Amino acid sequence: MGGFDINYLLMKEIAEKFVAPDDPVLIKIAKAIDIAKIHSAQTQELVERMLSVAYGEQKDRNKPLLVGLAAPQIGISKRIILVDVAVKGRGEVGDLRVYINPEITWKSEEESEWYEGCYSTDRVCGIVSRPTKIKIKAFTREGKSIEEQHDGYTARIFQHEIDHLNGIEFVSHIADDDKLHWVEEEEFPEYRNNEGWRNWSKKCPRGKWERIKGIRSVVRRFNCSN
Ligand SMILES: [Zn+2]
Repeated sequence: MGGFDINYLLMKEIAEKFVAPDDPVLIKIAKAIDIAKIHSAQTQELVERMLSVAYGEQKDRNKPLLVGLAAPQIGISKRIILVDVAVKGRGEVGDLRVYINPEITWKSEEESEWYEGCYSTDRVCGIVSRPTKIKIKAFTREGKSIEEQHDGYTARIFQHEIDHLNGIEFVSHIADDDKLHWVEEEEFPEYRNNEGWRNWSKKCPRGKWERIKGIRSVVRRFNCSN
């Protein structure tokens, strides 16, 4: 999920590390990590690569540039995500953690709406309704099994990133075309910080989204549902 604000040069630098929005890896089910091999150089290097995308060239590991990241977004079809567990959805960043083979084990019936954006969906943002509380289980990069409960914006990031592992993007949760928005980089602070998303006039027509994703991926998704 994009925390995309901090500064435009840094944003461009990290955007280059992402696969294009029409890359087929984004609609694939990602493979689980073999927990017996969690300490392997291959898995640890993958985690480091994801962290280096999240922090960019800057050395400061207190300031991630993203609030969430799933391995498929950088072209790797494996079940690893990063989630910042200290954000509230208004631009702050802080505590980015690694979750391997994450699973949602419980969702609240209560849902809430908030905006979402993504480095894998071009300038498309939108308003998504999701359960407000979840429980998850996962493994840390040290191979420790963990269970956690999250709510609010953090719960939303988990759901958004775990969706990526299942080849699903936030746009597919939006049925109402009025809630599908087009937001230029320079408009994003207004969209997010001032809750401009609640009444955003620039819509993204469904056809524009389908062109961004490429015809092939649309056809494939259609076949999957039949
Ligand atoms: Zn995303």
